[in-house]
Amino acid sequence: MLQQTLVVVKPDGLVRSLTGNILTRLSETKLEIIAAKMARPSRALAVKHYQHLKEKPFFEELIQYLMGELHDRRKVMAMVYWGEDAIARVRQLAGATNPEQAEPTSIRGSYGRVRGGIFENVIHASESEPEAEREIKLWFQPDEIIMDLYPTTAVTRASVTQRVWA
Ligand code: UDP
Ligand code: MG
Repeated sequence: MLQQTLVVVKPDGLVRSLTGNILTRLSETKLEIIAAKMARPSRALAVKHYQHLKEKPFFEELIQYLMGELHDRRKVMAMVYWGEDAIARVRQLAGATNPEQAEPTSIRGSYGRVRGGIFENVIHASESEPEAEREIKLWFQPDEIIMDLYPTTAVTRASVTQRVWA
């Protein structure tokens, strides 16, 4: 089944210069990267991204983690991977949520750690097709992705102000 999945290299992955290693590991999947960008997640984005955990005692720390406030590095790398069984393949390589329980050869098993009240597990990967759709739409606009994944509509906004190169 051809699928798309959201992958985010979290701030601990960036601060420890693991992006190259992580991308190399993910290339084993033979999936295609169809969108990629550096992003500085706002609180609103982080809260929406982790909305399913908002009742958890570690939620606030988790939001700070994704925003980069725990690593003094406010950036993440967000990507969309596409191809056969993309969701399961990336989850398999990522490993279990708790890095101490993840297979040592997995990305989280290799590079993750438990610190404070949360699992700093260097990578996010969508868990299901509905979650992938929700997350991809949260992180990317249609024109940032080189394939047409979901239906779009065209809107014309005359009064929108945006920055352009001076
Ligand atoms: N998390 C945590 N402690 C937990 C559960 C989750 O610190 O007991 C963090 C961890 O960083 C995880 C993220 O919250 O990656 C999202 O949790 P989820 O259960 O969705 O796990 P994932 O899909 O990332 O494996
Ligand atoms: Mg999850």
